[in-house]
Amino acid sequence: MKRAIVLSTIAAVGLATAALYAQPRGGGLPPIEKIQPVKGNLYKIFGAGGNTTVFVSSKGVVLVDTKLANNGQQILDQVRTVTDKPVIMVINTHVHPDHNGSNQFFKDQNARLEVVLQDNSAALVAKNRTSTDGQKPTRTYKDRLSVLSGKDRIDLYYFGAGHTNGDSFVVFPALRAMCIGDLMAWNMAPLIDPGSGGSVVALPDTLEKAVKGIKGVDLVIEGHGFVNSWANIVTYARFNRDLLEESRKAMAAGGWPKDVLAALKAKPEYRLLTQDKMLPGLEYGGTASGRVLINARVAFQELRGQPITTNFAGFLPGEPGAPPPGSPRPGGN
Ligand SMILES: [Zn+2]
Repeated sequence: MKRAIVLSTIAAVGLATAALYAQPRGGGLPPIEKIQPVKGNLYKIFGAGGNTTVFVSSKGVVLVDTKLANNGQQILDQVRTVTDKPVIMVINTHVHPDHNGSNQFFKDQNARLEVVLQDNSAALVAKNRTSTDGQKPTRTYKDRLSVLSGKDRIDLYYFGAGHTNGDSFVVFPALRAMCIGDLMAWNMAPLIDPGSGGSVVALPDTLEKAVKGIKGVDLVIEGHGFVNSWANIVTYARFNRDLLEESRKAMAAGGWPKDVLAALKAKPEYRLLTQDKMLPGLEYGGTASGRVLINARVAFQELRGQPITTNFAGFLPGEPGAPPPGSPRPGGN
């Protein structure tokens, strides 16, 4: 069943974006789990795609992201264990189908549902002929927007390209908490989706602007996986800057992505961001060290102005360890 959802997702959004979901190693995506308290009236639901963040405001429930398609009822069942209020708003951090897949369910429940999206993401939804009504925004913004008011206020920020070219930071000021979408997932370098405007070269600028421009946040809910600390987001911005700069250096010295990984592994503050351990539930997505190699390859290609072909898997031409030309493309990293 999951496999069928995954395959129809691929048909809907094209091979590149969905290849992540098509590489299950040992069981595919983990299922929906019980709703978890984050802080006060803020919760998160893990599984079946990206994290769904649940904010119980005085006006009703706001969801940040809705997982893959066909998970709406299960999300609602979890929400109902903490509140009877209606779902009044969906904010999508970006438009990958594991983050906006079940929007339509909530639109069907509430015709007046607000759907909030950054302008560039809205353009991607408009361009995609398979977009549902529920994925189409009722409200968009360019670089800054506040919705609701008082202790319910939610601030949205856009600082530039990274994972895609429409990634929102979603801040709950009263709770000193934030959703960062897939700019950070699983405490590792992010997947880059050049087909949706993502850029490993732009990413450090975007994260540094966020670190400078967003105040009063302690807790950060990642796009998949964990709740992290603001201190670790600051480190993470530095790490992605170093990944890019080490890629530049390695290229200039005739080196390879493995040299970038070695340089980052040498810094103790990046231990978790470069670890070789496979995280439970992440068998479909690879390891942190594998993601460094992938993003270094993407950096090499982007800096050379070449088409990005390595953002899911595969080697650079001539890279040590690459199979000889003409052999089947490798499936992993
Ligand atoms: Zn994504």
